[in-house]
Amino acid sequence: MKNKNFNRRQFVIATGKASIAAGISATAISSFAKNQLASHEQHHSQITPYKQEPLPYAYNALEPAIDALTMEIHYSKHAAAYAKNLSEAVQAENVDIAKISLEDLLGNISKYSVKMRNNAGGHYNHELFWKLMSAPSGTSGPSGKLLTAIQKDFGSLEAFKAQFSDAAKSRFGSGWAWLILSHEKKLFIASTPNQDNPLMNISDVKGFPVLGIDVWEHAYYLKYQNKRADYIAAWWNILNWNFIGQRFEQI
Ligand code: MN
Repeated sequence: MKNKNFNRRQFVIATGKASIAAGISATAISSFAKNQLASHEQHHSQITPYKQEPLPYAYNALEPAIDALTMEIHYSKHAAAYAKNLSEAVQAENVDIAKISLEDLLGNISKYSVKMRNNAGGHYNHELFWKLMSAPSGTSGPSGKLLTAIQKDFGSLEAFKAQFSDAAKSRFGSGWAWLILSHEKKLFIASTPNQDNPLMNISDVKGFPVLGIDVWEHAYYLKYQNKRADYIAAWWNILNWNFIGQRFEQI
């Protein structure tokens, strides 16, 4: 949505400048621009309403914590399917994505199908997941306001990591573990099944997901098989704490 609004403004500005040069009235141009945009948006939304952003690093960038083949299959097959199936669901259920953001869709997910729930969650969760990680850089933990909040709400960074790891290990079957900021601005840890997340109105735990780990077997099984705990332990080494800290401060 933000990008679309930005593009609209850019388009109107660019068109306005051209019109001044050509001596065309601003009103006529404004009307022309609106029609062009409506046509463009309608066309665009009929093809692919939801697309994956490019992975912000190479498939092998997170090795040895996550191997290149796991990343490639996870991103180009599993996550691609969530984007495609979400696109199908919004068309089948007549969601006007020019008017409702993905976050708002999740907040009203009880109004839609199981297909919408699974794939809206799947798309949101994975688009976030890729950004939470980066190649090991030497910066090994949170800092600033996020660190202060973690220490306040969990006692210490170590206590937070232990509690988060336990939630990720003990999620039965497929799902995610989350660091969540509650509506009362308190950090807490919880896990959700399948592709649910704490933005969903049907979720048992609600709030803003600051950080999350995918504990579906597809996220780790090629390298770790049944040893989910080893995957979780290695995952702490590939977190992009700059991004996570910014995400927390932007809430
Ligand atoms: Mn996944």
